[in-house]
Parts: sequence; structure tokens; C-alpha cells
Amino acid sequence: MLASLPGVGPKTALRLGLNLLSRPAGDCAALAESLAVLHEQVGFCETCGCFAEHGRCHFCTDLRRETHTVCLVEQPVDVLMMERGHGFRGLYHVLHGRLSPVDGVGPEQLNMAALDRRVSAGIKELILATSATVDGEATAHYLARRYGDSGVNISRIARGVPEGSELEYLDEHTLSRALDQRVSWAVTS
Ligand SMILES: [Zn+2]
Repeated sequence: MLASLPGVGPKTALRLGLNLLSRPAGDCAALAESLAVLHEQVGFCETCGCFAEHGRCHFCTDLRRETHTVCLVEQPVDVLMMERGHGFRGLYHVLHGRLSPVDGVGPEQLNMAALDRRVSAGIKELILATSATVDGEATAHYLARRYGDSGVNISRIARGVPEGSELEYLDEHTLSRALDQRVSWAVTS
């Protein structure tokens, strides 16, 4: 079972199992209890699709957040990544996947109806933060077309040079994209 989890191979699963065995029985019981109630207590927000314990997530119920700006991501874990930056104060929308015709994933398989409702309700900006993969790009293009006439301002997260990285280690596509999406740079003294 442990070996079937993402990022855990047979060797790591064995190490985890042996580690659990070496701990007091109470630790294992506490872990088992947490896992047992996981599906009962944690679900997805009915508005945005993020993790939520009671109907709506803590982002959607946070009155201090900017409700007219919605950042669209593919998976709930992407929200956690976005929040690590501490810079975004809007709300999120989780698609729970991305368009992938090869795998039979179309708009109907994604959390799209709820997004339609939010766009109709009058959000001002939809930030497309789908992944920089072929399917992620295709999904962003699809959404830009789907909501192109809705009046919502649609933007796409910029691609570029990661913080702290040297140019010589970047692949040509990243560098080329960073150059295409350059921003004006004014230095004030
Ligand atoms: Zn929510």
C-alpha cells in the first residue's frame, strides 16, 4: 500500500514500515485514526474545488481576500504552492485536472460548471495558472476562448527565469519564453 503512494518506491515503503514498527504503538494508532477520518472530514470546496472541511474552503470564506480576482490551477496542491509565495490575495479555482484528449479528459470531466457560474457572477480577472506542459497550454487556450466574450479580464502567469538560477542552466524554451515576456525595467534612485 505505501509503495503505491506517489514518490514512494518499494525501498522507501519498507523503510517507512520499519520506522513505524520501531515507534510506540500509540503513534501508529494516532496515524491510523487520522487516515480513517480523512475522507469523512476533508472534501472539496463547493465553490472553488480546493480542500475544505465544511462545504466551503477557508479561502472562499475569508472576507479579507479579493473576491473579484480568481487564479485557476489544475490541482488542489497547486493552491498550496501558490500560497507559499504569500503575494496573491485573490481566490482560487481548481479544475481537478487539465484537458487531455489522449486520456479522454474533456471539459465535462473538469470542474468547469462551477467556473462558468463564477464567471457569470461577475469576477473581474481570471488568472490562468495551468502548467507549462502541452496539455496545460491547451487548457489555458481553451479557457481563454471559452470566456473570451464574457467580459472577464483573462491573464496567464508569466514563464521565465527561476529565482536564483544561472542562465547557462536554463533550457532554450524557458529562456526564449522569458525573453518574449520581458517587462520594462525602470530603476529609481
Ligand atoms: Zn473555496
